[in-house]
Amino acid sequence: MLQDPFERRFSYLRLSLTESCNFRCNYCLPNGSSCDNKAAELTLLEIQHLVRGFAAAGTTKVRLTGGEPTLRRDLCDIIRTVRQTAGIREVALTTNGYRLNKDIQHWLDAGLTALNVSIDSLDADTFHLVTGQDRLADILAGVERALALGLGKVKINTVLLRQYNGQSLETFLDFVRDKPVSLRFIELMQTGDNGSFFEAQHLSGSSIIQQLTAAGWQLMPRQHNAGPALEYAHPEYLGTIGLIMPYSAHFCDDCNRLRVSSTGQLFLCLFAEQHQNLRHLLAEDNPPALVAFLQAQLQFKPFSHQLANANTGQTRQLAMIGG
Ligand code: SAM
Ligand code: SF4
Repeated sequence: MLQDPFERRFSYLRLSLTESCNFRCNYCLPNGSSCDNKAAELTLLEIQHLVRGFAAAGTTKVRLTGGEPTLRRDLCDIIRTVRQTAGIREVALTTNGYRLNKDIQHWLDAGLTALNVSIDSLDADTFHLVTGQDRLADILAGVERALALGLGKVKINTVLLRQYNGQSLETFLDFVRDKPVSLRFIELMQTGDNGSFFEAQHLSGSSIIQQLTAAGWQLMPRQHNAGPALEYAHPEYLGTIGLIMPYSAHFCDDCNRLRVSSTGQLFLCLFAEQHQNLRHLLAEDNPPALVAFLQAQLQFKPFSHQLANANTGQTRQLAMIGG
């Protein structure tokens, strides 16, 4: 399996399918800035070669992200191709939910095993304000449909924003009371484009932890291959609450993921200073060549991001790589 000099092992690939997005979340694409490189997106065949290479290197889980991955017309083919790759056991999708209600059945038929839906507010007006899209009701209906269709792994991503949801914990707790979902609060991360927004809106997850603990929520044991989220449960709630706190100490200690952009750039870290082009290795189906490349590049993976020093590397916004 792929390993870096700090003995971290990498079994999880986050693959961005596009830089395009139909939302304009104020923390991600502030001032409506856009990030669009549609012409250069990896093709289905290149994705097949990529995932076969990662699988040969021990990858078992692939998350499809973006931009907004559901803008890819061949999304179902991509899901199917990834799922049919020997060694890949989990195919997850991170989406803003725009097409969820309409398309979830197709995604499941193609082999999707897990879903993350981004919902930053449960108030329709606030949701509209944050994302630029007045679609909360339809997205929530999509979540209900995914659950009704039996998808066991549904997570909600909520970026903690001082002004927009910092005082809304009770509403989110009510939401998970009778739903088997994991709602995860993600601390806002600074990127190249969102500096002043970050200063105004960043809120530490520790205040949420204090409130949860005071209300009887308990930290669950960390599961094997789990991400960096701290997961809290309460006997009176079907759902759980997670905290993703990239500014906390030890956040990077168990890093198990590598990222590839929609144009075939390897990101050794979400906030890397440099990216490595691997697209030339995808023209042919040659897993050993890709494995050798990845193992060689991993020797340069830094131990940690430098967000505490406001160093965001080359990452202008997360739509260019998928978070
Ligand atoms: N468009 C899809 C979506 O929103 O779910 C997938 C891509 S989006 C970049 C992936 C995740 O990153 C979303 O949950 C989004 O809320 C989160 N995100 C984007 N910018 C962020 C930032 N600056 N800090 C923390 N999370 C961020
Ligand atoms: Fe688009 Fe997702 Fe960024 Fe929102 S968070 S602008 S939906 S990529």
